[in-house]
Amino acid sequence: QSALAQFIECHPNSQRLHEQALKSLPGGNTRTLLHTAPFPVFMRKGEGCNLWDEDGNKYYDLVGELSAGLYGHSHPTLQRVLTETIQDVGFNLGATNAYEQRYASLLCERFGLERLRFTNSGTEANLHCIAAARKFTGRRKVIVFRGAYHGSVLSFGDGIAENNVDQADWVLVQYNDSDGVRNAFAQNDDIAAVILEGIQGSAGYIPGSGEFLRTIREQSEKAGALMILDEVMTSRLAPGGLKETLDVEPDLITLGKYLGGGLPFGAFGGRRDIMDVFNPLTPGTLNHSGTFQNNTLMLHAGYAGLSNVYTPEVVQLFNAQGDGLRQRLQKAFAGSRFCVAGVGSLMCIHATETGILPENITCRDDVAAVESADLKELFWLELVNAGFWVQIRGSITLSIVTPAPVLDAFVVAVEEFCKKHVSLISV
Ligand code: PLP
Repeated sequence: QSALAQFIECHPNSQRLHEQALKSLPGGNTRTLLHTAPFPVFMRKGEGCNLWDEDGNKYYDLVGELSAGLYGHSHPTLQRVLTETIQDVGFNLGATNAYEQRYASLLCERFGLERLRFTNSGTEANLHCIAAARKFTGRRKVIVFRGAYHGSVLSFGDGIAENNVDQADWVLVQYNDSDGVRNAFAQNDDIAAVILEGIQGSAGYIPGSGEFLRTIREQSEKAGALMILDEVMTSRLAPGGLKETLDVEPDLITLGKYLGGGLPFGAFGGRRDIMDVFNPLTPGTLNHSGTFQNNTLMLHAGYAGLSNVYTPEVVQLFNAQGDGLRQRLQKAFAGSRFCVAGVGSLMCIHATETGILPENITCRDDVAAVESADLKELFWLELVNAGFWVQIRGSITLSIVTPAPVLDAFVVAVEEFCKKHVSLISV
């Protein structure tokens, strides 16, 4: 029986629900990334590291809500805090509250920021950072990197996405291309900022080299432009975020995902003199409003998660566990057309026509040139059929509640996949 036939046979309710969804959602979808053919799996419930779909199939969750699910599903501490907040505080007070400064000061301390503001998403955090850089420098253009994903309308996967705001304002450079950065500055005297992920997440967890990051820092400083580090995914990698492990200091960073304790979240911050472009005590500053950005549920869950659950000790152990898993997966893939790239608890399984070593992936185009959509799909179908929730594009983001035996079982399932399809996937 083919993997696809088995998938269709085991998911009749998902198929039926997709047909219904087509009547109200374009393509039955409200998050483009989650669409899969012939239909997506409809999940019904999550608990800990487990998911159950609408057909009663159970999965071990290795998607971890693309890194927002760091605490797993319904973490008991977060559940308790949220229940208490609903009972004792309310959802959203439409007024300044003490919980926002409590969480802001924790985030500032943990991530080394002088000032911070909240948003409802990572996308908004990046949009406001860019607005801040433009206001502060009085310039418009922003250097971005091919393959970058800074949020829905800030997508640069295959270039500047059609729905991107202000098409003309971007200067696109290849990731890890230091000369490209120097040329971009040499050719444009009106650069407000460089925005980058220290590890390009959506592009397949590709780390930026130290030399590349130092070049961005030096060049932006020389030109009077700002360096914005998007830590929406990477803040989980070290107690003070990825930035703590780099030998450069960005001017602003953006945060998101798990820091909302499971609720919609974004934040941005850094240097006080820049963040003061939002200071309402000064006339002529930028407006930054948003109905839900100081909602009490996020402020309580986020605070409880970061102060009580994702402590610096847990950060270190958790990411070391991720490094160990990646090494075991890479061993399982040896000699095949698959490889696994990433850092700590963030990783991506790449399927290619030719085979590629993770250390040879320096930018999205290195993989795009050899990517195999068929192998990606086969891997996804086989692993989903075996009860592991993985993403068709290969991203794996771990959650702290996944026990070691589940990761062991995942490695065994990958080994079995490699054995079953050895003739197809060998290089
Ligand atoms: N920046 C990065 C690096 C991301 O990975 C994402 C989301 O995946 C975002 C920004 C956007 O965050 P949100 O989905 O909360 O808008």
